[in-house]
Amino acid sequence: METNNSVDPILHKIYDPESFRKTGHELIDHLADYLQAMSQRPATPVMPYLSPDQAREYWQDDWDQEEGGEPVDLFRKILRTGIHLHHPHYAGHQISPAAPVAALAGLVNDFLNNGMGIYEMGIPGTVLEHLVVKMTAQAMGFGPEADGVLTSGGTLANLTALLTARAVKAEERVWEAGSRQPYALLVSEEAHYCVDRAVRIMGWGSEGIIKVPVNERFEMRTELLPGYWEQAVAAGKKVLAVVGSACSTSTGSFDDLTAIAQFCREKDLWFHIDGAHGAACVYSSKYRRLVAGLELADSVAMDFHKMCMVPALGTALVYREGKNSYRTFAQKAQYLWNRQEEEEWHNLAKRTFECTKHMIGLRVYSLLRTYGTEGLEAYVTRVNDLGGLFGELIAAHPDFELALVPRCNIVCFRYAPEGQPEAVLEQVNQEIRERLVREHTFYIVRTVLQERTFLRTTLTNALTTREDLEELLRLLATLGRDFLSAGS
Ligand SMILES: *Cc1c(COP(=O)(O)O)cnc(C)c1O
Repeated sequence: METNNSVDPILHKIYDPESFRKTGHELIDHLADYLQAMSQRPATPVMPYLSPDQAREYWQDDWDQEEGGEPVDLFRKILRTGIHLHHPHYAGHQISPAAPVAALAGLVNDFLNNGMGIYEMGIPGTVLEHLVVKMTAQAMGFGPEADGVLTSGGTLANLTALLTARAVKAEERVWEAGSRQPYALLVSEEAHYCVDRAVRIMGWGSEGIIKVPVNERFEMRTELLPGYWEQAVAAGKKVLAVVGSACSTSTGSFDDLTAIAQFCREKDLWFHIDGAHGAACVYSSKYRRLVAGLELADSVAMDFHKMCMVPALGTALVYREGKNSYRTFAQKAQYLWNRQEEEEWHNLAKRTFECTKHMIGLRVYSLLRTYGTEGLEAYVTRVNDLGGLFGELIAAHPDFELALVPRCNIVCFRYAPEGQPEAVLEQVNQEIRERLVREHTFYIVRTVLQERTFLRTTLTNALTTREDLEELLRLLATLGRDFLSAGS
């Protein structure tokens, strides 16, 4: 075969600066219009619902159309059919409406595609990651020896932290010998499922996760820790760590971190905090008390995409003793690094699962650089205030009850007019959530607590108002009454 030096014109087209300029401007205009429309309490639902089959048909139609569609038309379709987090009636799962500046940083990140596995493959991204981790550690109240990494999500950060815990606390060299002892950790029964999953990934099996019961506020009953620990040790288990939740996902309950820290110190255990959702409270002088004792942990995971307005995924995993972060993965990859044993902060892949990784730090940094920590302080305070306000409205309404008094922006409640049997309450709450999100402009979710269905909101849009929350309750009450009167 002859070698061919011609470039197929389509390749020039793909990388054509002028078409990028045109499409890019159109897209930004469109996104700005979208943002504007969202801020005006649109009559559109937060989630324009299509069933899975309908949605598949919609996109099959898109694909089947004659080629040559403008990319902006595709983006418009995505905007129309996706869930709208910038809608002030969005109060569903825990993910924040992205700050536009951080989304622009995301565009730069995607465009440059700096891989970051090694320093040379992403110098600015590497240094910004380091700065962001250091700033986060400081905001958390750690000293100068604290350090860590950014990871693709809280799930991965928690697994990484637990691998570090094992590397530091296990007596044998697990990385070489394998996980041969019956290792275990203690965690509240309300912890996120990813902790359970991490334990199983590490090969500890279901015996490796010891679930400590919670109190009526769904917080770990820390007074039970010694008993559970003794029982595990008596059964031959090697307990290595305790995981505290700050906060739990379902109910937004914060474990007593100081009590857990105390226990871990006594028993020489690793203390990890799953602060995926709530560790961001460190940015709010008003709500910082919720995570009192956080700085006593050996490691803390905190999602920037839950309570910091940063586009997903971006998580900080901070270690009180930064040097421990180098012990997680002892594996040699000599072709990437020259001196494996050295603690090179600037070769990030030594300490993370990811090899190629996107510039998570840039998204966070762009927000901090533009608005300072004041932006985060205002946001975290506002959304938690909204949680408190909504809690008060619910408590004052005769037809609703709270599962617990909300402490942050997660609020669990149910429609429960007097005299209705539990079976009816089950049905009515499932029904009104369905009707609310299909027929009205709000989006909320459901959860099951102690075998009862509750409505659940995460107030994550800082521009949601008291009037929005009042309207939400009014609608739910009307839907509830309709359901009950239709049934009787
Ligand atoms: C959301 C959440 C997680 C999972 O984090 P991802 O970023 O979604 O992987 C873990 N723990 C808690 C408490 C959470 O709220």
